[in-house]
Amino acid sequence: MRPRLHDLRSSAVTSTSGSGHGHAPAPPHAQRARGAAAANDPFPGVEKVRPGLWSVPVPLPNNSLRYVLVYVFETDRGPYLMDAGWNTDDAFSALQSGLSEVGCDVADVQGVMVTHIHPDHYGLAGRIREASGAWISLHPADAELIHDRYDEPDDLLQRVAAALRRMGAPTEELEPLQNAAMPVRALVDPVLPDVLLEDGARPEVPGWDLTAIWTPGHSPGHLCFYEARNELMLSGDHVLPRITPNIPFHPQAGANPLGDFLKSLDKLEPYDVHEVLPAHEYRFDDLRTRLEELRQHHRDRFTEVIAILSEGPHTAWDIASHMRWSRSWDDIAGFMRRAAVGETVSHLRALEIDGVVQVDDGEPALWSLSEGTAAQRNKR
Ligand SMILES: [Zn+2]
Ligand SMILES: [Zn+2]
Repeated sequence: MRPRLHDLRSSAVTSTSGSGHGHAPAPPHAQRARGAAAANDPFPGVEKVRPGLWSVPVPLPNNSLRYVLVYVFETDRGPYLMDAGWNTDDAFSALQSGLSEVGCDVADVQGVMVTHIHPDHYGLAGRIREASGAWISLHPADAELIHDRYDEPDDLLQRVAAALRRMGAPTEELEPLQNAAMPVRALVDPVLPDVLLEDGARPEVPGWDLTAIWTPGHSPGHLCFYEARNELMLSGDHVLPRITPNIPFHPQAGANPLGDFLKSLDKLEPYDVHEVLPAHEYRFDDLRTRLEELRQHHRDRFTEVIAILSEGPHTAWDIASHMRWSRSWDDIAGFMRRAAVGETVSHLRALEIDGVVQVDDGEPALWSLSEGTAAQRNKR
């Protein structure tokens, strides 16, 4: 299948944006039904979502996602924000002018609820706090990653290198891939949160009925927020209308990030939702259909992995290189390549936990179908 412009751009740029944000190169079917390329969509302006609730796009320079949507809740005490943006001067001034369009000022911000610690959501939060005295909230599972990821990453980098060797990364790619996420550190002010929000926590935003929903997968401490009065789901990067969020397997991702992600999709199923407010792309209304599309996407990926392993044992690197992506494997480089292999391992891990595949202790490690799976396939 011919790679589409959107995917190519997305790949090109995320490779410089790094640090686990994002979105692996999409498999070709992931976005087929979804119309025009994001790169061609008009750049949104400040939009009124509901009375007292605004969507303010904050630009992400050199990134095909182009912007993060910061949601502004007006209250008697002042505005509260959901997500922040990268820590750049452009992002800060865009946020400032967005807020003045809404009729408030960054100095009046009372709280910043960060959905997860990726730089495009959390990077600017410290600067907003400095300008306003606002509190910053995160889920504890993401808060505890800050030190190793942003303050003193040497140990984490060693663990990333070990994981890459086990995945079967070629020697000459080890070092560049190990450091692929480092450039993005400059875009993050690694502040600690003032407020920790556990699953079910209700952040204090006067006049709004917000509940945090812990949705690990894309990040271990990812939070969605449900606003009950207006039946709104603020979905962060967990559910986006068109893009499939990257579910990376890396040393900070936990034992089964994809298994977590799939459970986190189910977790949103029971909510009555009028409109979904994602952190990228655009708002949409049919949450349950989108949840099912995301589940189907991963079922298709499982099938693909099993088909490759039915030909014999492979390293994760080999499996990733045989999978279908939006562009040829040779054209996927740097951070995108790491994301692609990481996402492949996430699928392998989930299948391993289900007893479908197994892995040996080697370096590189060889994945194969478990005996039961192989026997079943031979019977067919
Ligand atoms: Zn993210
Ligand atoms: Zn994001």
